[in-house]
Amino acid sequence: MEKKSILIVEDESQISRFLQLELEHENYACTICADGREALNVALETDFDLIILDVMLPSLNGIEVLRRLRQTKQTPVIILTARDQVVDKVTGLDIGANDYMTKPFAIEELLARIRLHTKNSVHAANNMTCGELSVNPDARVASYAGHPIDLTKKEFDLLLYLMQHRNVVISRETLLDEVWGFDFYGSTNVVDVYIRYLRAKIDNTFKVEIIETVRGSGYVIR
Ligand code: CA
Repeated sequence: MEKKSILIVEDESQISRFLQLELEHENYACTICADGREALNVALETDFDLIILDVMLPSLNGIEVLRRLRQTKQTPVIILTARDQVVDKVTGLDIGANDYMTKPFAIEELLARIRLHTKNSVHAANNMTCGELSVNPDARVASYAGHPIDLTKKEFDLLLYLMQHRNVVISRETLLDEVWGFDFYGSTNVVDVYIRYLRAKIDNTFKVEIIETVRGSGYVIR
């Protein structure tokens, strides 16, 4: 079986060395980065199974690294924070960290969380499917029965959110907040417009009914 790969982003060499030894002992392949900007580049170029991300880093802090990474990639991230950095913890989870650990941490606990977050992360298994519809959040591609679907960034984000919440009816307001963000000033009509775009590209093209309207409630994929 191929080793799972972990990027360790940590500028304290004592900690990164320790993590590397422990993780290699558990049969993970490790890459170490001590600089935020460099880590972001490496994380964008390479598909890791998981990233351990310290917050206080030279050149670009961990929160900023995560924010920029999440614009294109969904690699699982565990944030490392110092005991008193509560704000970072909350911000980190808000912008898409999968988990966090407070330093100093018990290595057994970190290993358990790494196992949890890498369980589904064999790259192919990252595909989300609903019938013949397949969405890969890492590669940001979607296909139907193997035929690629050409989507804009927003269309993809909307489809991804619905796929991540399959079988759950999502209101227009929630979609607006989650996909467009709280800083978007506009009406929920924009959601209907983008649902129409998606239907044109998926439902109409492949003669299926994937995206369902639930009157008065919102939309659901099932
Ligand atoms: Ca640090």
